[in-house]
Amino acid sequence: MKIEKISVDVFTYPARLSRDTAGHAHPGPEKLVKLAMLRIRDEDGTEGYAFGPQEVIRSHVIESFARKVLIGQNVFDREKIWHDLAHWQRGSAGQLTDRALALIEQALWDLAGRKLGLPVHKLIGGFRDKVPAYGSTMCGDDLRGGLSTPDEYARFAEKLVSRGYKAIKLHTWMPPISFAPDAKMDVKACAAVREAVGPDIALMLDGYHWYSRTDALYIGRELEKLDFAWFEEPMEEESAESYAWLAAQLDIPVLGPESLPGKFLSRASWVKNNVCDILRAGVAGVGGIGACLKVAHLAESFGMNCEVHGNGAANLNVVGAIKNCDWYERGLLHPFLDYEEVPAYLNSLVDPMDSEGFVHLPTRPGLGEDINFAYIEANTVERY
Ligand code: MG
Repeated sequence: MKIEKISVDVFTYPARLSRDTAGHAHPGPEKLVKLAMLRIRDEDGTEGYAFGPQEVIRSHVIESFARKVLIGQNVFDREKIWHDLAHWQRGSAGQLTDRALALIEQALWDLAGRKLGLPVHKLIGGFRDKVPAYGSTMCGDDLRGGLSTPDEYARFAEKLVSRGYKAIKLHTWMPPISFAPDAKMDVKACAAVREAVGPDIALMLDGYHWYSRTDALYIGRELEKLDFAWFEEPMEEESAESYAWLAAQLDIPVLGPESLPGKFLSRASWVKNNVCDILRAGVAGVGGIGACLKVAHLAESFGMNCEVHGNGAANLNVVGAIKNCDWYERGLLHPFLDYEEVPAYLNSLVDPMDSEGFVHLPTRPGLGEDINFAYIEANTVERY
């Protein structure tokens, strides 16, 4: 049961993504990108895996924290290991991030699932075998035929509805797009999409994250008229006061926090102080599957939903094991990209969606990723 080895394989695979100067993903020419696979092995030889950026689990993080804390510990003692790592964060000079914590803990869940022959959501305690997905668009761009005008959002929304999606979330324009941010343009895009898809598709907006209170209030009131399901992260989340001010004035549910640090602790303050209507947490952002479950259960205890942030195996397994989450975030999506295309390092998608818009929870042991080990072995560029 003891953890024996921790290692990382860094490999390349082709992707058609580029990042703008603010870090937002857009379609781009195909090129090789790097990805890291964390591998934790116990003394019986069972392994667990988690994928993430190399920077998050670079060799310093593995050597100075992961190996020091994990080697020799019982592989099933996730909560103890997580707290041991979290204690190291304070003295790590910012080097051991919540994202690193999340990847390490994720690999432990994967290992436990593989060892016991159970999907992680069943190991936690399953709530459902399928979940409706919302199509989550990329941010607006200046690509003709892409997401550069309200009309292009509307045409893309029609395509998503015909694919089966019963809900769509818009990410609208942000700098460095020349005219962004523009509250009126965001509202125009939302109105065009509502008109295109009709009244029965759930719609959400995740716009510019640094709007002023007054711009956020204007957008929120317009979204109420368009019957949107929620209004996500319109302002700087460090200002809980601004969110409380906004939520008190709007009928549309205000959702957050997504990017605020502080794990489940900062979210507890948001609940206590009536800062939002729907809580938010993603596995990577709050430091792991266990921490994300704590946020979801906190919300449930106060009669609130917790909408899980982001796609991928870890978030999907959390969604499969909680009741108070209405949707799985599938994306990011763009007219120029095919989300159904399986990346080279996997044999199949972890979140296949049927024609009714339901994503089916994985049934294979662990997190459910169908890993193409031969591809990774053949394309590894660094190992530590
Ligand atoms: Mg968001």
